[in-house]
Amino acid sequence: MRIDLVTLFGRAVDNGLLSVAVHDLREHGLGRHRTVDDYPYGGGAGMVLRPEPLFAAIEPLRDDGAHVILLDPAGERLTDPLARELAGLPRLALVCGRYEGIDERARGLADREVSIGDYVLTGGELPALVLLDVVARLVPGVIEAASHEEDSFAAGLLEYPQYTRPEEFRGMGVPQVLLSGHHGEVARWRRREALRRTLERRPDLLRDAPLSEEDRGSLELLHAERHEGSVTNE
Ligand code: SAM
Repeated sequence: MRIDLVTLFGRAVDNGLLSVAVHDLREHGLGRHRTVDDYPYGGGAGMVLRPEPLFAAIEPLRDDGAHVILLDPAGERLTDPLARELAGLPRLALVCGRYEGIDERARGLADREVSIGDYVLTGGELPALVLLDVVARLVPGVIEAASHEEDSFAAGLLEYPQYTRPEEFRGMGVPQVLLSGHHGEVARWRRREALRRTLERRPDLLRDAPLSEEDRGSLELLHAERHEGSVTNE
């Protein structure tokens, strides 16, 4: 089978900003059958990836200077700050587990373990692709910096609402300020709406977000608005 992947990341690869190589663990498998897994000591369901093939595959990458990341549900949660930290590194090696995971003794090969969320996938391949995507878009030059500086989480807040044409759709309009061409007012509106959305959906983010005096004032007003809303609704 041949799989053709149609992606805009192709340009980043052509420009030399990004290069991706896939390594087959099976090449380091043991014996005639190139075995990579075995039954768990102590019994129980499923198979565990043996340490020898993992060491054989990962050690040369580590020796070449790769920062080794094991995708694992027990790892540190993938967040925007972690992605920004990883985007600054020259080389990453992403290790995908399968079955019941990897032999505990191979965990030491990883510089860090990363989880993409509190759920269990069958393998580390999709988590590795998620990490690749999240990190690659932050590598300088891959996409315009301005387009991720205001994305959700970048400044510790969720993003403001976005609108495009048409100006009216099924009776729904676009906030007037966005049509005004007044950059200062657009920026203030966006900031306030980002604060509103974060307050409504992820108030936990506000604890660590860098907020100006003006932001704090906006939040007080938004709190008051919400309180009035709930009183009126009662
Ligand atoms: N027995 C393991 C446990 O309970 O933690 C789960 C193993 S899972 C079925 C197989 C592999 O999928 C893991 O070794 C890991 O590489 C990957 N994986 C599954 N869920 C993941 C998550 N939330 N984040 C990152 N990797 C995950």
